[in-house]
Amino acid sequence: MGRLENKIALITGGARGMGASHVRRFVEEGAKVIFGDVLEEEGRVLQKELGGDCTFVPHDVTSEAGWSTIVDRATTEFGGLDILVNNAGILRFDTINDMDVASFKNLLDVNVVSQWIGLKYASRAMKQGGSIVNISSVNGLVGGAGVSAYSASKFAIRGITRSAALELAAAKIRVNSVHPGAVSTPMIGNNSVDDPIDENHIMSKLPIPRYGSTAEVSNLVLFLASDESSYCTGGEYVIDGGMTAGAGF
Ligand code: NAD
Repeated sequence: MGRLENKIALITGGARGMGASHVRRFVEEGAKVIFGDVLEEEGRVLQKELGGDCTFVPHDVTSEAGWSTIVDRATTEFGGLDILVNNAGILRFDTINDMDVASFKNLLDVNVVSQWIGLKYASRAMKQGGSIVNISSVNGLVGGAGVSAYSASKFAIRGITRSAALELAAAKIRVNSVHPGAVSTPMIGNNSVDDPIDENHIMSKLPIPRYGSTAEVSNLVLFLASDESSYCTGGEYVIDGGMTAGAGF
């Protein structure tokens, strides 16, 4: 029996990277999965690969109408909604001096406002309770030169997560955030977990001196999505090879 048997899950940004890994793992664990992305071709390829237990819906997370549509599709096609993984996100490197205001606001729209809209629409559809996993970052715990907008967006997710955990407790909906470090995906250049890290490389200073894999993050997201984490809500779960532990980085 799969760890997500009889669960219906919605995953945003599921066409590639960590989102695609979560889609695959959730289907393996018995969930019915509806996933969205702006990358339509990649989304359709993944749906074809995984078959009937998953549906791809073109979905831009900044669109409130899009959220209404994708949540409706989950409830009409699969019969309800139990899990939301707010995964879609973008990263831009720019100093405060070089970044324009429109670009800063757009990043917050994609990374923050989207998750808030998702919480609103998905929680209304979770009639039997549920679990919401908001993907933040280590940059939601520490700042970084050149990532002021990204870091602001990922810090904001912590406040939304804690507030939502309090608001939605009565509806038996748990809400937690996940804080990955450097994970091998297209977002940061697809560095392989097995790439040798030379001693001058920034990653060599980590207690676990390598990139994380998408599968490792899926293990944590799966735990938080499943009933195994039934006493966890309002929590922040770090998966970063020790990056934010403090020593040597
Ligand atoms: P990725 O770029 O490989 O995947 C992100 C996905 O989100 C893509 O498929 C992209 O098309 C989709 N997306 C972007 N804008 C969208 C929009 N407006 N609507 C719908 N989908 C949209 O990146 P990833 O590394 O897999 O990132 C997944 C999440 O993890 C993001 O929230 C990211 O900030 C976070 N994260 C990544 C890392 C890392 O090292 N890779 C570290 C910490 C946190």
